[in-house]
Amino acid sequence: MTSHPAADDCLAETHEVLNQPTPLVEFNAWTSDAVLRYWIARFGGAGGAAVLESYGARVGGDLQRAGFLANRHKPEFTPHDRFGHRVDLVEYHPAYHALMAAAIGAGHHALPWREPGPGAHVVRAGIEFLHTQADPGTGCPLTMTFASVPALRHQPALAARWLPRITALAYDPRNVPHTDKAGLTIGMAMTEKQGGSDVRANTTRAVPIGDDDGVPTFRLVGHKWFCSAPMCDAFLVLAYTDVGLSCFLVPRWRPDGGKNPLQIQRLKDKLGNVSNASSEIELRGAFGWLIGAEGRGVRTILDMVAMTCFDCMVGSAAQLAQGAREAIHHTGGRSAFGRRLHEQPLMLNVLADLALEAEAALAIALRLAHALDRPDDDHEAALVRLGTALGKYWICKRAPQHAYECMESIGAVGLIKDNVAARLYADAPVNAIWEGSGNVQCLDVLRVIARHPEALEALMAELARAAGRAPAFDAWVARLQDDFADREQIEYRSRALVERLALAWQAATLLNHGEADIAAAFVAARLAGGSGLMYGTLPPAVDCRAIVMRARPVL
Ligand SMILES: Cc1cc2nc3c(=O)[nH]c(=O)nc-3n(C[C@H](O)[C@H](O)[C@H](O)COP(=O)(O)OP(=O)(O)OC[C@H]3O[C@@H](n4cnc5c(N)ncnc54)[C@H](O)[C@@H]3O)c2cc1C
Repeated sequence: MTSHPAADDCLAETHEVLNQPTPLVEFNAWTSDAVLRYWIARFGGAGGAAVLESYGARVGGDLQRAGFLANRHKPEFTPHDRFGHRVDLVEYHPAYHALMAAAIGAGHHALPWREPGPGAHVVRAGIEFLHTQADPGTGCPLTMTFASVPALRHQPALAARWLPRITALAYDPRNVPHTDKAGLTIGMAMTEKQGGSDVRANTTRAVPIGDDDGVPTFRLVGHKWFCSAPMCDAFLVLAYTDVGLSCFLVPRWRPDGGKNPLQIQRLKDKLGNVSNASSEIELRGAFGWLIGAEGRGVRTILDMVAMTCFDCMVGSAAQLAQGAREAIHHTGGRSAFGRRLHEQPLMLNVLADLALEAEAALAIALRLAHALDRPDDDHEAALVRLGTALGKYWICKRAPQHAYECMESIGAVGLIKDNVAARLYADAPVNAIWEGSGNVQCLDVLRVIARHPEALEALMAELARAAGRAPAFDAWVARLQDDFADREQIEYRSRALVERLALAWQAATLLNHGEADIAAAFVAARLAGGSGLMYGTLPPAVDCRAIVMRARPVL
């Protein structure tokens, strides 16, 4: 009997792997990113180059690997120990702790509070930008810890006790009282089942129980529907007293060393943001210190929310940049129909559009960081007021479609979970939803403009500085002024208004501070040409090749 030759050779080589790009691994996410380096230097952060270079090497190396592991192995919740004692323990993969330790060691959570001054917020935003590319999930507790500082300062006696360890470059994940730790992390719990955006619908109650060295203390009873990073050492919590909605610092452990009854009910099973645990909690008579004035809880916690919104801008800008970079790198290593993908005119249009979006987002995010570095300048302070809601709305809103388009440029492997494009897509909606969803940001823009006319004046002054260089920009700004003068149905129209204002701010920032070619391309693409409904609709005059060359990873 004769057998078929192939049947005898069970280890026959079926094929050679051809035409697949090399993965973007073991690279420096700072030195390879010319756009990031440009904008950090442009806004006074050049002094942080060494810190950013060393963090960039880790983000392109061990932290990138840790990011994949921390997102593959979800946090796990254990309510009780083996003998039935309540422990409320969330356990993370070691990679999560490695990411937290690296970021805290680099000052992601504290740099401008530790060393305020020129460039501090810009450099710290650079660290966040890099870290997000390794893992956005850990960005949640890092951001909340960072953002808690301005709110905690409303209670100076408590701030004096807590801030030195909140801003320390030390990460201690142990489930032990805060008094035993050299470094502390902070979370926030505002959202309840019946109201997230509308926190005045909160039902959690707080009753006074005494005084701790001059700081009023309370006992809290109620629930919180979303409480992320529940292993944080303490949480800023909103609850009603007889005076009104107030803000409290609620620790995991009571000052006497006992466990505070802040009980985790379960963890959310989320589409994205997987490395980060988000929980439902109940406060069963939990101890808390009052922060700020009683009845002024929203005002107090807004100082924290302003900083988390700023971080959403930076985080989403990082995701845009990472997506564009992955798409450019991938298409540069793959051919179809006889030519490299990134050289084919239609793909070049898509890639340039993705890169343009990412650069415009980074430009306004770091412009705002630059303003945060100058709090004593009235113009800059006014810009922060309006720019935070404006930028948070626009950059975060642009992310999901951008992530999808990056994935499609990579093709089918972009949908597979071992490709970072898949994670970018799952994570993309998160920043738009939390810390004030899209509509809430638009309403906030209107509120700021109504209460602080100087904020709109500051933004208009930024636009005016860019006048006379691009006719399409000038026409756009003129129409914008008419739009805002018309108060008819302004709430109904606010998304359209905010979108136009955000595009004008991005264009002005590129014109005032950016490379002339990029600014011209942005104006042509977003203010004068293209349908704008899909990426890849840049008008013919745009030099797509130059934009892609600028955004490609320099390896
Ligand atoms: C991954 C994740 C983690 C989170 N972690 C935390 C946490 O740690 N702590 C915490 O407190 N919260 C947390 N949240 C909750 C988050 O902040 C809320 O989901 C958010 O504030 C929106 O509240 P909501 O879900 O109740 O939506 P709703 O308030 O019901 O809003 C639903 C929609 O209605 C819109 N809307 C609301 N008011 C108006 C209006 N007046 N006009 C027009 N439209 C309006 C909103 O923009 C939104 O699109 C987290 C959320 C997510 C997704």
